[in-house]
Amino acid sequence: MKKLIYLLIVLFLFSACAEIKEQKKPKPKNIILMIGDGMGLTQVYAAYTVKKDKTNMARCKHIGLVTTSSKDNLITDSAAAGTALATGNKTNNGLLGVDKDGNKFPTILEIAEEHKKATGLVVTCAITHATPAAFIAHNISRGNYEGIAKDFLKTDIDVFFGGGKDHFMKRADSLNLIDSLIARDYNIVYDVNEISSIKNGKTAGLFYDFHPPKYSEGRGDFLEKASLKAIEILDQDEDGFFMMIEGSQIDWAGHDNDLQYLLDETLEFDDVVGKVLDFAEKDGETLVIITADHECGGFTIVDGDLEKGTIKGHFSTGHHTPVMVPLFAYGPGSENFCGVYDITDVYKKMKNAFGF
Ligand code: MG
Ligand code: ZN
Repeated sequence: MKKLIYLLIVLFLFSACAEIKEQKKPKPKNIILMIGDGMGLTQVYAAYTVKKDKTNMARCKHIGLVTTSSKDNLITDSAAAGTALATGNKTNNGLLGVDKDGNKFPTILEIAEEHKKATGLVVTCAITHATPAAFIAHNISRGNYEGIAKDFLKTDIDVFFGGGKDHFMKRADSLNLIDSLIARDYNIVYDVNEISSIKNGKTAGLFYDFHPPKYSEGRGDFLEKASLKAIEILDQDEDGFFMMIEGSQIDWAGHDNDLQYLLDETLEFDDVVGKVLDFAEKDGETLVIITADHECGGFTIVDGDLEKGTIKGHFSTGHHTPVMVPLFAYGPGSENFCGVYDITDVYKKMKNAFGF
């Protein structure tokens, strides 16, 4: 009898400890994945220097380094890297959410939907472009924009903001996907300045025929406005949400070997990181992950001045490079993102964080 009582006490203490341990590490209700396309460590440090060491990314205390190779190449493209981030699978360059035989990989966005979470995508390119497409579409060709647009209707995505209107409206098959979205109760917005009037409900914002312009050529604070509105809408779901925000054109600046373009896009992205971290700080239930799909431009810094906030850069290629990219994590579950790991592990860590 005494033995039994001891056993019961031990069991009770053990379960109480387990509970405390569990409480110590709460799961995030929301995950916001922020991708700077083509944003290697040098791009980040360029922003760090220009902002005189006040970058928002540096507010994150849990940091990782991520290897990015694709299934068929040391140097990934954005389709294979997007697929790795979104599905945890390596695939060949050019493929979206599928293997080379067309077998589909479920994406974190689709899995979040299955678990009743709200979902969203906000990008500074066409919403049908490789990075956002990897989270929602399954296609053997990243260039099949019209096919990718159709895949948006196979999901219940709550909010998507970007360019690519023509892929929904001016199609070879003459389908009008905007009508289909309206039939499914989506608010449709064509002007980013009109999103402030939207308070809730499923919303598609297609603000440009194809890609939005550069930040310096009139895009303005589109990414900040769109990201904050998306958060406002998605946060109304009591089950939480998954959202991906992309600074899409950091990559294009690398391809163009254009330092000013690179700085404009990276600095804007970091400003939005700041707004997202402010939300996460207040919210307390949001895990924010900031990373890249690969580096672009083989960018390096050859001179500069931290006091003046100036740099001199140099590009070694007009293509992507295979160098590891940084990952910054903030909020509940962020401690699991420390270390060196593969880009496919980012998906696995997000899934684990959600407890799926
Ligand atoms: Mg991209
Ligand atoms: Zn690229």
